[in-house]
Amino acid sequence: MPHSAGTLIARDGDRFLVPDNPIVPFIQGDGTGPDIWCASVRVFDAAVAKAFDNARRVVWFEILAGEKAKAQTNEWLPKETIEAIRTHKVAIKGPLTTPVGGGIRSLNVTLRQVLDLYACIRPVRYFDGTPAPVRHPEQMNVVIFRENTEDVYAGIEWACGTDEAAKVIEFLEREMGQTVRPDSGIGIKPISLTGSKRLVRMALRYAQANGRETLTLVHKGNIMKFTEGAFRDWGYEVATEEFRDDVVTEEETWHGASREGKILVNDRIADSMFQQVLTRTADYDMFATPNLNGDYLSDACAAQVGGLGMAPGANIGDEVGLFEATHGTAPKYAGKDVINPSSVILSGAMMFRHLGWGAAADRIETALERTVQQKKVTYDLARQMDGATKLRTSEFADAIIANM
Ligand code: NAP
Repeated sequence: MPHSAGTLIARDGDRFLVPDNPIVPFIQGDGTGPDIWCASVRVFDAAVAKAFDNARRVVWFEILAGEKAKAQTNEWLPKETIEAIRTHKVAIKGPLTTPVGGGIRSLNVTLRQVLDLYACIRPVRYFDGTPAPVRHPEQMNVVIFRENTEDVYAGIEWACGTDEAAKVIEFLEREMGQTVRPDSGIGIKPISLTGSKRLVRMALRYAQANGRETLTLVHKGNIMKFTEGAFRDWGYEVATEEFRDDVVTEEETWHGASREGKILVNDRIADSMFQQVLTRTADYDMFATPNLNGDYLSDACAAQVGGLGMAPGANIGDEVGLFEATHGTAPKYAGKDVINPSSVILSGAMMFRHLGWGAAADRIETALERTVQQKKVTYDLARQMDGATKLRTSEFADAIIANM
């Protein structure tokens, strides 16, 4: 077992105690997952070896989920997998197929809920040379903190015409004096003080640790006052009650407060935010948002810098971090060694930074950027670039390693 050659990552409060040979579990993923993993792990190993002069090495430990788990254990998400992620504190995964039908929920959503990974973190920045649809993609450099467990994603909904929907409609009319058309589907949108505050708290800690200057609360509180509006109010409460010495709100600056050396906390209505990421890109630094806004906003921001193939992501809770590709399994390319592995590679860089191995993360990001600048890219980027050299997934990994 590779496992026995490594040491567990420990935690002392908020601090990770990372040995020189940490065991890190990985889920290869379905479809193109194995192509991507085989390329990514070589990049990770090379970066760690180079950054720490061969003094450190990750001991990778495969855990099962998705189709491979179903074939070997007859379960889509074995409980050993969930336990292993808990025990090892971090894990990295490729994309997983969401089985259609049969009452099986998305494995990704299940992992987030079971492990209480309440923040979905997506850094979006431009890698020089990547084809992008806007004139100044380099102005985009944001980190999005999306609430991951509540909102309309809580899964509390009833289909039109069911007894349950009829019961809720009847209750609303009888007890609340509200009229809802009888032929309606019903969904519930819970947004809690606990869920909102812990997300904004994590975002502000991240801003402090990483020298970020602005945190924007993105909400639709003008319409949904007691959910999205409350998210905004609770966000400001966390900022001004728990981080008072380090933050200034936008409103305080209107009354003369200086933002010098402080994190500026402001808020924007979601629809205006979608305009402003395009028109005033450079003004924004970090976003904290409820679940649905965050889902839309992270893909829109990623598109602006060249698409999901380049966007890393992490799901983080108080105990555990799960780093993952932001795209799906792209099954038509499975086993063909052509897919772009950048999303998993950059998620690995995020994981190293999360563990305090920033030197390995820097190696990965710099080498990947250099490779794209040299126009050595996989098919998806090659088809948008003039004069590109189209590489296989494995060759792209070779080129990144050569550039370290
Ligand atoms: P998808 O797998 O993301 O693929 C859609 C298209 O996006 C691909 O055909 C390809 O476009 C492009 N693409 C995706 N990843 C790419 C990469 N790494 N490099 C280059 N191009 C890439 O979306 P889908 O077909 O809707 O979903 C397939 C399965 O993935 C479903 O079972 C879905 O549930 C699952 N899924 C999983 C996750 C996750 O695990 N986090 C997320 C989303 C979806 P071209 O054909 O134009 O080249």
